[in-house]
Amino acid sequence: MISKVLIANRGEIALRVLRACKELGIATVAVHSTADADAMHVRLADESVCIGPPPSRESYLNIHQIVAACEITGADAVHPGYGFLSENAKFAEILDAHGITFIGPTAEHIRIMGDKITAKKTAEALGIPVVPGSEGEVKPENALEIARQIGFPVLIKATAGGGGRGMKVAKNEDDLEEAVSTARSEALAAFGNDAVYMEKYLGKPRHIEIQVVGDGMGNAVHLGERDCSLQRRHQKVWEEANSPALNVEQRMKIGQICADAMMKLKYRGAGTVEFLYENGEFYFIEMNTRLQVEHPITEAITGIDLVHEQIRVASGAGLSVRQEDIVFSGHAIECRINAEDPRTFVPSPGTITHFHAPGGLGVRVDSGAYQGYKIPPYYDSLIGKLIVHGRTRVECMMRLRRVLDEFVIDGIKTTLPLFQDLIGNQDIANGDYDIHWLENYLADKTDA
Ligand code: ADP
Repeated sequence: MISKVLIANRGEIALRVLRACKELGIATVAVHSTADADAMHVRLADESVCIGPPPSRESYLNIHQIVAACEITGADAVHPGYGFLSENAKFAEILDAHGITFIGPTAEHIRIMGDKITAKKTAEALGIPVVPGSEGEVKPENALEIARQIGFPVLIKATAGGGGRGMKVAKNEDDLEEAVSTARSEALAAFGNDAVYMEKYLGKPRHIEIQVVGDGMGNAVHLGERDCSLQRRHQKVWEEANSPALNVEQRMKIGQICADAMMKLKYRGAGTVEFLYENGEFYFIEMNTRLQVEHPITEAITGIDLVHEQIRVASGAGLSVRQEDIVFSGHAIECRINAEDPRTFVPSPGTITHFHAPGGLGVRVDSGAYQGYKIPPYYDSLIGKLIVHGRTRVECMMRLRRVLDEFVIDGIKTTLPLFQDLIGNQDIANGDYDIHWLENYLADKTDA
């Protein structure tokens, strides 16, 4: 059994994990950089260890310091949150070698899914539908032949990809050479690996992802989908569950395909299988082998605590639910609150002078922010998440409108006003949007 968890992360997700540990009676250790000494996750943890200076490379990504912090505090498990070391296979291996439980999948599964070509091949072999594309790596010399087979437009993507970097569209043959060479140099700069592959470019897809959890022994369940089509620069902004585009049959069908695949893989832990969805078809794009930022909307509609499940399966206790026990109830929306100018999206670090979180039925605020908190400039600008649940999508939207009016964050700029705009929009009200909708909407607003 796990008795003390070191949380190798910061901000709202560190707090999220800490809450689950407390509920399970597990002791917590916070780690932090010198910039985060006053952070809420540090204040609320049973113990804390400073692991280095502000730059992530020297603190939250510093494996040696984190392992040392485990040894000093006697933590027998590590929860990596998302980002930072959460999908680092080497980290999982090193913890293993030290006899510390990694609350996540095996290093092997992280590795398979971390390389996009291998991930796609694996997904296909497991019976998951994939985007038509190249068999493997694409080189400048074979790009044209492969593109002709797939059919234009095509998308060149980095094998080591993440965050939408190293991705280029070629509309036709004339664009291809440049798209391949730019994608390769971007990939090299971002990931130290210039390998790219090619996919059919889908014009107006939605981004729909399936939440799965496996026990590592061949049992797995799905917890339905999340629609994360509202994105800016490939970053999710607003997520909802269920997707306005799917009916129950479609949900259960794709969900079961993913759960079956996880059973075959003997996958352990929480994971997300991401798809593009167009004209009734699902196309696998990648799998994230960790907890996602938007996991609370799934928790809202299923009542299942995903971090509890992660801890259970990591300790070998198995899943707490069977597929037939999982009931999808109502509708949930998450708004990502970033410390950014809502028009230009330029980061806005600084001191929060007033902070008042909304409340009431169906409202959840996951945030490490508080009045007087000074947001350091070194990290991601996500300062909180607002999750609203209602019995129907309409009720959820009405509640969200009320809740947004109640939320006060002063002293810095935040993306809250963007959500106030979106909640009044007819396309959003109709659930009628694809992955390009938000960018187009923002571009129109700037022009107007
Ligand atoms: P990353 O890991 O870099 O985020 P993904 O494969 O998850 O890369 O893709 C990120 C986003 O890029 C998707 O959410 C979607 O908006 C877009 N995208 C990816 N593949 C395709 C495709 N084949 N056609 C159209 N858009 C795509």
